[in-house]
Amino acid sequence: MKRNILLTLLLTIVLISCNRQSQLSVESPDGNIKLVFSSSENSVQYKIFYIDTEIIKNSALGLVIKENDTLTNNLVITSSHKNTYDETWEQPWGEKRFIRNNYNEIFVSLKESSGKQRQINIIFRVFNDGVGYRYEIPEQPNLDSIIITDELTEFKFADNHEGWWIPAYRDNRYEYLYKKSALSEIDTVHTPFTIETNDGFYLSIHEANLTNYASMTLASVGDNTLKCDLVPWADSTKVKTSAPMVTPWRTIQITDKPGDLITSYLILNLNEPNRLDDISWINPVKYMGIWWGMHIGRYTFWESDNQGATTANAKYYIDFASEQGIKYLLIEGWNTGWTPSWYENLLHVFSFTQCANNFSFNEVVDYAKSKKVNIIGYHETGSNLENYLAQIDSAMQMYEDADIHNIKIGQVGSRLQLKEWHHGQFGVEYYRYVLEKAAEHKLTVNFHEPIKPTGLRRTMPNLMTGEGARGQEYNAWSEGNPPLHTCILPFTRLLAGPMDFTPGVFKITTTRVHTTLAKQLALYVIIFSPVQMLADLPENYDSHPAFRFLIDVPVDWEDTKVLEGEIGEYITIVRKDRHSNDWYLGSITNKTARETKVDLSFLEDGEVYIATIYADGEDAEYDKNPESYRIDTMKVTSTSSVDLKLAPGGGCAIQFIKL
Ligand code: CA
Repeated sequence: MKRNILLTLLLTIVLISCNRQSQLSVESPDGNIKLVFSSSENSVQYKIFYIDTEIIKNSALGLVIKENDTLTNNLVITSSHKNTYDETWEQPWGEKRFIRNNYNEIFVSLKESSGKQRQINIIFRVFNDGVGYRYEIPEQPNLDSIIITDELTEFKFADNHEGWWIPAYRDNRYEYLYKKSALSEIDTVHTPFTIETNDGFYLSIHEANLTNYASMTLASVGDNTLKCDLVPWADSTKVKTSAPMVTPWRTIQITDKPGDLITSYLILNLNEPNRLDDISWINPVKYMGIWWGMHIGRYTFWESDNQGATTANAKYYIDFASEQGIKYLLIEGWNTGWTPSWYENLLHVFSFTQCANNFSFNEVVDYAKSKKVNIIGYHETGSNLENYLAQIDSAMQMYEDADIHNIKIGQVGSRLQLKEWHHGQFGVEYYRYVLEKAAEHKLTVNFHEPIKPTGLRRTMPNLMTGEGARGQEYNAWSEGNPPLHTCILPFTRLLAGPMDFTPGVFKITTTRVHTTLAKQLALYVIIFSPVQMLADLPENYDSHPAFRFLIDVPVDWEDTKVLEGEIGEYITIVRKDRHSNDWYLGSITNKTARETKVDLSFLEDGEVYIATIYADGEDAEYDKNPESYRIDTMKVTSTSSVDLKLAPGGGCAIQFIKL
C-alpha cells in the first residue's frame, strides 16, 4: 500500500513535469495570433488561435522516413528557445520596396526517448499576418541518408470552410481553372490554397523556400482536415535527402480581409536574403513578343510560309518597339527543332544554338541593338531535359556573348523527361539548377511550365517571373478563361509570386479573351510581374489611343495597396511607381457590371495629380462589345474620389501623374 502511494506520487511528478514541458506557445508581435505546440507519447501537434478563434485545431506534425519509420513516436522536448526578430529589408525590384520582417520564433528540439534516440527540431515563426514552420533534421549518429516517404503535417480546420483550388497531379501542371468548394469536396490540390472561414477570416496555405524537397500538395482526409501530400518521384518515394537538412516552411497566412493576403509578405520573409553579389544586370522589363501570333494561328512556331520567327518579321517588331519606346522583344521559334507537334509528349530535340531557316540570330541581335531594343532569349525544352541540359552551357553562353540578360524557359510536357512530375523533388532541383546556371551567365529567368513560386526571388532575384497558372494563351486556343478567372488569381496563385500572364490583347473580338479592353489594361496593375508582356500584334496597337497606357505603366513598384476586393468577384489595387511620384490604379470585375467610388486618400496630401482614366465604354460588355472604351482626364487630389463604372467582364485603369 505504502509502495503504491509512492509509485502514484512518482508517476504524478513525472506526468506533471512532462506536461510542463510538453506544451509550448508563442504569439505574434501584436498578440493576435497564438500558436500552441504540444507533444504526447505518439504524436506532436500544433494549433493556432487568431484573436480568440481557434483557426487551426490540434493538427499532426512529423515525418515518416523509410518504411513506416515514423519520426514522431516517443518524442520528448529536450530544449526550446524563443527569439524575436524585426528588420526592414529592401527589394531590388518588386511590388513594394521596403518589407518589414517581424516575428516571434520558438525553436523546439525533440528527441526519441527510446530506440535510436533520433533528433528532430521544429521551428515556428509567428508573424502578425500568419505562421510559418519547418522541420529540421540535425546532423546525428543514427541518421545519415534519409528517404522521406510521407510528411504527416496537417491543417485541421474548425469547420467545413470553402476554398479556391486547382487540382494537383494533372497533365497540364498548374494550368487549370479554379474551383470553389467546401473542404470536404476538394481534390488533392496545389498551393497556395485560399480559404474563407465560416467566421469570415481568410487563410492561405502555401510553402516558402521550396529547396531540395518535393512540393506540398494538400489532400482532404475528412474531419475538416487537409494533409500534406508530398509529390512523389517516379519510384514513389517523396524526398531523397541527408542530414543535416531542413524542409520548406509550411505557411498559413491569416487575415480579416481577402485583400490583406495580397499585401502579406510572409512568404518572402521566410526566404533567405539575396545571395547574388552583383545584380546590376537585373532589370524589370516590359516586352513585346513574336508569340501571340503563333497562338492565334497567324504565324507558326516552325519553319513554314508564315513562320513567326523570321529575320524580316523580327525587324518589323523591332522597328515598332523602337518607335514606341518598348525596349525588349521576345522571339519564339528562332531555333531548330520546331514542328507542328512540338507541344506533344514526344521528347522533341530542339537545338538551343542553331537558327531556323529564314532567321539570322546575329543579324537580328545587331539590328535590335542599333534600334536600342534588347532581345529576350527563349529556350523551349519540351520537357526533354537531357537534351536541354546537354546544351545549357553553350546556349546560355551564346546569350551572354550577345549581351542578352533575359530568358524565358518553357517546360511544355506532362512529365519532365516523360517521367517525373514538374512539382516533385526532381523538378524542384532541375529548376534550381537552371536558375543558378542562368545567374552564372547573368540571365534573368521567366519560367513557363515552372515549379510554383515559393519566394525564392528574394534569394535569387534573377528569378523574375513565371507562368504556373492558366494565362492569356488559353484565350487563344481553348474555350478561354471566364471573366472571374482574373478575379481569383490575385487571391490564389499570385500570393506565391509574380506571374507572366501576358495581358494586353486589344483585338478581342476575334479571340476568346473574355474581358473588355479596359480590363486588359487594368491587369497590368492587378497582376504584379516585373516582366510584363504587351501581348498583342504591333498592328493591333499601332495608333490605338489606349496603347499609351501600356507604354506608360511601370513594372516595378514602390508600394502596393489593395483598396477593395472579394475573391472571384472584383478587386481594386493601387501601386506607386518606384521611379517617379506617379500612382496607377487597376480595377476589374467578373461577369457582373459594377459601380464603385474610389477614395484617393493614397495620393500625397496637398498635391495635384492629372488622372487619365481608361474606362469601359457606356455600351461595353465582354462578350458583345469588348473593345468599347473611353479615355477621360481630370485633376484630382488626395481628398477627391473617382466613380468607376465597370462593364460586365470589364475594368478600369487610371494613371495619376503628380504635377
Ligand atoms: Ca503554358
